[in-house]
Amino acid sequence: MTINLVWFRSDLRVRYNPALYFACKNNESIVLALFISSMKQWKLNLFSSKKISLIYKNVISLSKELRKLNIILYYYESTTFSKSINYLVRFCKKNKVNNLYYNYEYEFFHQKRDIMAMKILKNNSIFSYGFHGSTLIQPGIITNKTGNMYKKYSFFKKKCIQMLATKQLNYIFKIKKRKKIVNHSNYKIPSFRFSLEKFNEQLFPIGEKKVIKKLKLFLKNKLNNYNSDHNSISLNSTSMISAHLSIGVISPLQCLLLLFKYRFNVHKYSVEKCLWINELIWREFFKHLLYFYPLLYKETILCNWEKNITWKNNKKHFNAWKIGKTGFPIVDAGMRQLNQIGWIHNRLRMITSSFLVKNLLINWKKGEKYFMSQLIDGDVALNNGGWQWISSVGSDSVPYFRIFNPILQSKKFDPKGVFIKKYVPELKKISSVSIHDPNLWHEKVKKEINYPQPIIDFSHSRRETLTIFRRAKYKL
Ligand code: FAD
Repeated sequence: MTINLVWFRSDLRVRYNPALYFACKNNESIVLALFISSMKQWKLNLFSSKKISLIYKNVISLSKELRKLNIILYYYESTTFSKSINYLVRFCKKNKVNNLYYNYEYEFFHQKRDIMAMKILKNNSIFSYGFHGSTLIQPGIITNKTGNMYKKYSFFKKKCIQMLATKQLNYIFKIKKRKKIVNHSNYKIPSFRFSLEKFNEQLFPIGEKKVIKKLKLFLKNKLNNYNSDHNSISLNSTSMISAHLSIGVISPLQCLLLLFKYRFNVHKYSVEKCLWINELIWREFFKHLLYFYPLLYKETILCNWEKNITWKNNKKHFNAWKIGKTGFPIVDAGMRQLNQIGWIHNRLRMITSSFLVKNLLINWKKGEKYFMSQLIDGDVALNNGGWQWISSVGSDSVPYFRIFNPILQSKKFDPKGVFIKKYVPELKKISSVSIHDPNLWHEKVKKEINYPQPIIDFSHSRRETLTIFRRAKYKL
């Protein structure tokens, strides 16, 4: 009798899960499942407490889904990745596992862990099979003529769409219930030893079914206006699916298939006109980039002048940015939302990160780390990609001279100040015209408000950054 083990990691779903599907393909084989938490490693990788809670709750939900298929999900609490490998090997030996099935993860430490684990398993005559379950297209195959990753997003996107158009997408079918449950049928996942931080389960529901429902509602009610509304901060016009994608409760392929099912016929014209697909392909771009350059998480591999930038790294400014007390309402509202719910709109991620890097002149790596430590959807590839993009030091980033003006951004994307008022209640009584720049209002009406003065002069900081970045880039 063949025994197959599915090692779950950031693919906490039963639907469209290639590793699970292929492990179950032969009806006769016994299928076991395992999830190993690695708290110490997660903390080193700056997983936020909200993200850790989201993972744990989804592991419980996954175990229930697997039970319906007569598969038991075993759970083990490890600390580091190397200890988790030891446990995996012990588990395989104890349960006489013949084959291991898993979906790839592309982060530096994860790749290292997998190479090591597969080597040890091979030495123990256990075969392992890896699958690409967290991207639309297998990383490494969208390449330019020299076999390298495209540096320009537009070229990458074109090729990605071409490949998707010719690819058989709907290839993973339903998994049949196993004939009977194996051993430990009364096994229960032990409770988590660490305290779990609460997060808003209305916004971030637990389990595949609820997440699929959430996505369907978005596609039904909001997709039509996504192209025009997606930048609007106060409209809740985006899918908020990122947290679920980041731990694989849903996959990008499912997103695409549901989109096609509910909204489109799969033909090129609609795909290119739909900005939501464009965003999924940005995700794809950053995932593939990290696959090609796993060291991106700590180095600016694609920019040779970043090291010439003279950062100010003012601690007081950094702290004011973190807690949302910079005196720039849209920046503060964004940072306070990040701290409270662990998620912010893409436009706010751009405004707050641009402000840190290009107005406070604080090294983008500090911002990247802080975001990661707070985000419920923290994802190394996307977070790193976003920060390098805004800082003009990554692949196909904004030009160094593009600096977001937080006041103009605020007027454009939160015109009535609805979002600002929600997160910066100190400004509730100020009119929607003045709320974007309360300092100006204060100077005119001379009324006291319990809100900080701007910590920097925007125009001055802009000029200074332009000079510093120009010098760094052109070695002046
Ligand atoms: P939607 O607008 O509904 O888009 C659907 C999906 O497309 C998203 O869930 C996401 O997977 C992908 N997507 C959307 N925008 C982008 C983008 N700009 N780049 C890459 N993929 C995108 N996203 C994360 O998931 N985790 C992060 O840690 C993260 N850090 C970021 C840091 C910075 C500085 C910036 C500028 C962006 C970051 N993003 C990150 C990308 C983006 O802001 C979020 O994916 C998006 O806001 C999530 O909301 P949504 O699910 O409603 O997106």
